[in-house]
Amino acid sequence: MEKVDLKNLTLPELTAWVEGLGLKPFRARQIFAWIHRPDFTGFDQMTDIAKHVRALLAEKARLSRLEPARVEHSTDGTVKFAFNLEDGHVIESVLIPEDDRHTLCVSSQVGCAMGCNFCLTGTMGFIRNLTAAEIIGQVDAAIRLRMAASQQQQMDGWQTQGAPRWINNLVFMGMGEPLLNFDNLLKAINILMEQRGHDFSGRRITVSTCGIVPKMKQLGQQVPVNLAVSLHAVEDEIRDQLMPVNKTYPVDELLRACREYPLPPRRRIMIEYVMIKGLNDSPAQARLLVKKLHGIRCKINILPYNENPDFPYQRPDDETVENFRQILRRAGHTTLLRHSRGADISAACGQLAAQSGVEAT
Ligand code: SAH
Ligand code: SF4
Repeated sequence: MEKVDLKNLTLPELTAWVEGLGLKPFRARQIFAWIHRPDFTGFDQMTDIAKHVRALLAEKARLSRLEPARVEHSTDGTVKFAFNLEDGHVIESVLIPEDDRHTLCVSSQVGCAMGCNFCLTGTMGFIRNLTAAEIIGQVDAAIRLRMAASQQQQMDGWQTQGAPRWINNLVFMGMGEPLLNFDNLLKAINILMEQRGHDFSGRRITVSTCGIVPKMKQLGQQVPVNLAVSLHAVEDEIRDQLMPVNKTYPVDELLRACREYPLPPRRRIMIEYVMIKGLNDSPAQARLLVKKLHGIRCKINILPYNENPDFPYQRPDDETVENFRQILRRAGHTTLLRHSRGADISAACGQLAAQSGVEAT
């Protein structure tokens, strides 16, 4: 019989599994706390659990773990991880330090089915969904890297403050469309928010979507996370051209889903707007964006396009970006201008498209 990967189980699922073995439910809480320590290596580390129970666990269960096959450091401090998955596929995550905070950008799928025609991940096509364990594995690997680089006693930091001590924010903005891997996404978020494990609060987690309308509300109803929406254009003709998903869920439907998203108090939706020269960067388009966003509690993240030789698109000049931004600001919007990080190691937005067969180092 195939062993169960305990990293894939939420605490209620683990509890049911543990009870199925004839053990008391409190064992599940103990086991959960151990296995979600990023530096956990094996069942024999569980010193507060009897030896015969550990032997039973080792017989019935396994614990998957992602070790980076490659870690690249950018001159600006950004770190890109490439992981070889058990079936040989490769995914990437990016750790972005900002002042004293660290944001980890994680992947949710191998490749992406959505085919946005400016995005390198889109050119890979869809390969497969990641398991919850593979999503969490990216977080653990980044925490281990941070722990190793720190002077602190590793265990102390983990016990007192959990994962946010090492990674402040998690964003699902790596490879893939998270809302098309909905079940595993939810499972991973639930595991990561569990107090006995990583103890992330929902306000530290952001899920970005290209606009899978029916799943947006469901996400907000099930977990109190932040939502980011890759909007990029408010005219259907232009958005159709950039993002095939717009033909299924056009702009007005997408914006209606934003209005209906069950936002926790004092939070806002992040509207992502990749600015592409001559396509969506005019003052008239900025004014239309303001009009369309009316009534949506949001902040706008402007991302000047990261050019790529595979695509014909160009980044607008700084003045065009600034003019566009001023129009949004004068209308009362909070705007962030995201300067791309990690471009020298292909870690910037839209540059993740790992080739298979990264050699382990
Ligand atoms: N599939 C989800 C999650 C990926 S997020 C989504 O699309 O929202 C990755 C972000 O980077 C998206 O907003 C995407 O549109 C943006 N992006 C893709 N290619 C880019 C590029 N070349 N320059 C700037 N941003 C890009
Ligand atoms: Fe997929 Fe997002 Fe890239 Fe579109 S922008 S192809 S949805 S990863």
